[in-house]
Amino acid sequence: MRGIADYKGIAEQGDLRAIEAMAEKLKGRTMLHVNSTAEGGGVAELLQRIVPLLKDLGLDVRWEVMKGTKPFFEVTKAVHNSLQGKGVHITKEMWDEYEAVNRENAERIRPDADFVVIHDPQPALFIDYKKRGVWLWRCHIDISGPDRVTWYFLKNIVERYDGSIFSVSNFAQSVSIPQFMMQPSIDPLADKNIELSEEEVRRVFERHNVPTDKPILLQVSRFDPFKDPLGVIEAYRLVKKYHDCRLVLAGGTATDDPEGERVLKEVLDKAGADPDIHILLLPPFSDKEVNALQRGSTIVLQKSTREGFGLVVAEALWKKKPVIGGDVGGIPLQIVEGVTGYLVHSVEGAAYRIRQLLMNPDVAKRMGEAAKEHIRKNFLVTRNIRNYLAIWLSMEHRDEKVIYI
Ligand code: UDP
Repeated sequence: MRGIADYKGIAEQGDLRAIEAMAEKLKGRTMLHVNSTAEGGGVAELLQRIVPLLKDLGLDVRWEVMKGTKPFFEVTKAVHNSLQGKGVHITKEMWDEYEAVNRENAERIRPDADFVVIHDPQPALFIDYKKRGVWLWRCHIDISGPDRVTWYFLKNIVERYDGSIFSVSNFAQSVSIPQFMMQPSIDPLADKNIELSEEEVRRVFERHNVPTDKPILLQVSRFDPFKDPLGVIEAYRLVKKYHDCRLVLAGGTATDDPEGERVLKEVLDKAGADPDIHILLLPPFSDKEVNALQRGSTIVLQKSTREGFGLVVAEALWKKKPVIGGDVGGIPLQIVEGVTGYLVHSVEGAAYRIRQLLMNPDVAKRMGEAAKEHIRKNFLVTRNIRNYLAIWLSMEHRDEKVIYI
């Protein structure tokens, strides 16, 4: 099993020292994480990575997953949408179901630990069963423009916690309890990010019939209108008038998402018969493929018009690729304008920046170096471990309302 020592020489030394010092103080103490899925989705992925590392540090860590009924998950999906501003009304019966499933799960899980982290709204009512310890509500979603009624219901629950953690300050709400900011992270030792040999990279391009004879522009993302794949094709066409290059659009094949299918069809139509546009449908768990595609590209795009954190940006920057991305969600935290990439607001802007980088490979190379360093310093999984330990300890000295760590 992987341990924190494996990150020596990769992660920031200061982070590793701080982690060791704080873990020493917390050795043997108990930590509990509760979320609503064991796999699939960013939250589960993050917990799969950090829980073993926390255990390796000598903490007694438990990760429990809620068991819900179908109606319960329909309610929490509605709550999720409503918190993201999609005017869904949550009825009294729905809240009753929410309460009942939280009660059953809390009775089964018995949430008793020195430090308890409850992820997202699904298990938020576990707070009713608090006996002791420090309790944090960890919000992974953007609740900056919620349905007011739903938010006030949830706010009343959340404010009974000792503190809250949000991913990006723009996604947060004002609450009367201490608020922490903790950005998502990538794991440099995961299949998606681990170093690959040139040979491994070459084989992936070969398997997908993408020749590597010209500069390659890449966007990896779900076929979702907010990821703006059509805008990416338009930008590529503007660039293509001046620079010969290829465009790779790689995305999942979620057949249960009718919107995804519609967007994919639009993308295929727009690409037409252009032999230099490659649309790759990757099956789930294609981590090494994504890794190789990112490593083998010249420039990575993430031209989103709306975004969560945008982890795919961090993944590409880590591989020394300058990223041209939309100025939305968590992307501006990762793209330092002109240093690790460029933020854009239009098709023309994206095309302009692509041309600029294609014409100046030395600049692109320098940006790539800075990009990796920016991610190494700020967005590796070890930073999340440091954050959790620091929040835990700082909650024992609760003097400031907002603490950035
Ligand atoms: N991803 C993948 N295969 C795909 C498309 C995306 O593995 O076909 C991964 C991508 O590498 C990243 C995650 O899915 O790790 C997407 O996260 P992000 O925050 O960028 O966007 P989201 O899809 O959550 O809006």
